[in-house]
Amino acid sequence: MRIEQSGLEIDQQSWSQQSSEGGGQEQWQAEGAPYIDVELLTPNSYSRPQIPIEQVNYIAIHYTANPGSTAISNRNYFENLATTQDNKVSSHFVVGLDGEVVQCIPTSEMSYATNARNVDTISIECCHPDETGQFNDATYSSAVKLTAWLCTRFGLDTDQVIRHYDVTGKDCPKYYVENPDAWFRMKSDIAAQIQTDYELQGK
Ligand SMILES: [Zn+2]
Repeated sequence: MRIEQSGLEIDQQSWSQQSSEGGGQEQWQAEGAPYIDVELLTPNSYSRPQIPIEQVNYIAIHYTANPGSTAISNRNYFENLATTQDNKVSSHFVVGLDGEVVQCIPTSEMSYATNARNVDTISIECCHPDETGQFNDATYSSAVKLTAWLCTRFGLDTDQVIRHYDVTGKDCPKYYVENPDAWFRMKSDIAAQIQTDYELQGK
């Protein structure tokens, strides 16, 4: 099922007015979100196919597998796929090396990141400084905040926060597949942040 194309790009303003993304930057941060730089991809069949997500059941964490690359360069790579037609790949969010968060796709639409789970999963790509795939402190902190806030937004708990590995067995996010303790710690940090966010939200 596809959203009918009007021929007009959905701009940032009309996107933020959609009910599924209601609130806007100030409200999101009051609810515990990190600052989100909304840089939506131009709709195209290689990275933003505009296929609706009926229900969000999971949030999947990835690593870029491209050490030192920035959030915006990963976003622009997805954007350029419309032209290069090299691959079908994208992500809802990319978390950068300075903790910056770039949103590429509305959470009401599918990304191409998590294979069979694309239909009901929000994907978060995380940048990393080196080949180990371990996130630096800034990236880790923003990824935890973003994931926790999305959990509160969609009524999910940490059982529904998964690695790409948990879907396909792919070594992604590499460091958190190879070091299960680090993944367990990240999920604990997300759980604590979910509680903090609900307190911020008065729930
Ligand atoms: Zn992945």
